[in-house]
Amino acid sequence: MDYDSVRTVDTAVADALIGERERQEETLAMIASENHVSEAVLEAQGSVLTNKYAEGYPGERYYAGCAYADEIEQLAIDRATELWGAEHVNVQPHSGTQANQAVYHAMLDPGDKILSLELTHGGHLSHGHPANFTGQMYTVEQYEVDPETGRIDYDGLAELAESFGPDIIVSGYSAYPRAVDWERIQAAADAVDAYHLADIAHITGLVAAGVHPSPVGIADFVTGSTHKTIRAGRGGIVMCDAEYADEIDQAVFPGGQGGPLMHNVAGKAVGFKEALTPEFEAYAQAVVDNAETLGETLVDHGLSLVSGGTDTHLVLVDLRDSHPDLSGGDAEDALTEAGIILNGNTVPGETRSPFDPSGIRAGTAGLTTRGFDGAAMEEVGDLIYRVVDNHDDEAVIEEVGERVLELCADHPLYAE
Ligand SMILES: *Cc1c(COP(=O)(O)O)cnc(C)c1O
Repeated sequence: MDYDSVRTVDTAVADALIGERERQEETLAMIASENHVSEAVLEAQGSVLTNKYAEGYPGERYYAGCAYADEIEQLAIDRATELWGAEHVNVQPHSGTQANQAVYHAMLDPGDKILSLELTHGGHLSHGHPANFTGQMYTVEQYEVDPETGRIDYDGLAELAESFGPDIIVSGYSAYPRAVDWERIQAAADAVDAYHLADIAHITGLVAAGVHPSPVGIADFVTGSTHKTIRAGRGGIVMCDAEYADEIDQAVFPGGQGGPLMHNVAGKAVGFKEALTPEFEAYAQAVVDNAETLGETLVDHGLSLVSGGTDTHLVLVDLRDSHPDLSGGDAEDALTEAGIILNGNTVPGETRSPFDPSGIRAGTAGLTTRGFDGAAMEEVGDLIYRVVDNHDDEAVIEEVGERVLELCADHPLYAE
């Protein structure tokens, strides 16, 4: 990965690519939505398929010369079907947001009603935020987590469904550390005759490996991303029962997209194959175990976690109890300086601004890919706490930074 061909054309981009590669090697990627793909997935994504138009679906293309594109997309579909068990899978969405867009476009008319989780409680922009097309095109009402437990207020959700009468209820979240009770949300949807979209973007890999309950077979539609807890490269996926297959396929193409990014579909096929192995199951279990270890370490140091812990790959720290004068943004900056890359995040009942919120969110998918075990994760928890507690102390930040570099060197990411 020297990017020599790029360099012959463009030294600026070659230098930045090398810089980014080194940045990834020499920092701890703990943004909960990030991971590291294998060299096999990188190669597939950087392949000649970026040249190919393949509008349509395998065997029914609008372009000639699609034999290999067909073969690869069918492999991606078959493997996804095996991983998640859905009756129908579409692997063409360019992103998780595009996957959600396909479901809304297929099932809703403008003005129809979406019931989803509030953004600062862990929801996603594509679930009805005013800055997103969903907030502008549809009528949105939002449920919340219980302020005491930090868990989805399922009763409140069901009551809101009764009074609001949504056309679709959206579950699945961006900053929610707990297992989701899909059945309870499905029951609320059934009671008001609404569709149920379960957006498992963050936990796609955990669900595939069976370490988080699956909504497939419960919710009408399941969307996911292919780059967070599963390492299949950047992209999205939609799953549904056979009865909705045509509507969903039409909504992806031509409804919302043109030609699929076939190089990314190839990356998905390869990443899904990797995920069908016992090694991946062990990986996903280690991701969850590591998150638990990280959470316990932070709690032992006196930090507060939203919901008190985690069942997934992420922890959400509410700094207001332990460090009321420290914002999530300032914590993020100090940690970044030490080479620990995670993000400031809103927390339920947010009292600061979304641009400088009260919490930090940390995920373990990336470090687990690099081989961090429980002991290493405990040390990472100690380092995070040291920086948070000494965020103004340059000497401490520098010392932690040196240890981070050693940990990175002990857990190399890509071969030279
Ligand atoms: C990350 C995420 C998505 C997808 O994001 P993209 O950046 O569009 O791939 C969708 N829904 C949720 C809940 C997410 O966390």
